[in-house]
Amino acid sequence: MHCPFCRHADSRVVDSRTTDDGSSIRRRRQCPDCNRRFTTVETAALMVVKRSGVTEPFSRDKVINGVRKACQGRPVTEDALALLGQRVEEAVRSTGSAELSAHDVGLAILGPLKELDVVAYLRFASVYRAYDSLEDFEDAIAELRTELPGERPPVPAPTP
Ligand SMILES: [Zn+2]
Repeated sequence: MHCPFCRHADSRVVDSRTTDDGSSIRRRRQCPDCNRRFTTVETAALMVVKRSGVTEPFSRDKVINGVRKACQGRPVTEDALALLGQRVEEAVRSTGSAELSAHDVGLAILGPLKELDVVAYLRFASVYRAYDSLEDFEDAIAELRTELPGERPPVPAPTP
């Protein structure tokens, strides 16, 4: 590959080692022209199979854009979205498989999104899980209430 400093068309590998978890290889390279060194990381390309059967490379940006839509009008910062994207990517990469379905990516989004913003979570889940009735929403909200401290239903007032 070309040198990122001087754009020389070639570089040579001076060191190569596999990361501890075996998921990637780091290479130290040196430019024969300017002699500067740089590092490249080689990982298996992670592919996502869409419902249509089309396969495309996993994209953290796509994850973030999808979640951003669900977060419209919610107090969610770009930093929080970026962090969510990172968590989702780490989760799907940690499965160790080179290919996963769009459904799996959606599942990996639900957990972090629930922690980030429950309203955005409900919006995202309603599309992703194809809620089609009030009961679906009620069930999801009931589930959230049991899971999230501070979001519990109010204790009924004692009857006189
Ligand atoms: Zn160079």
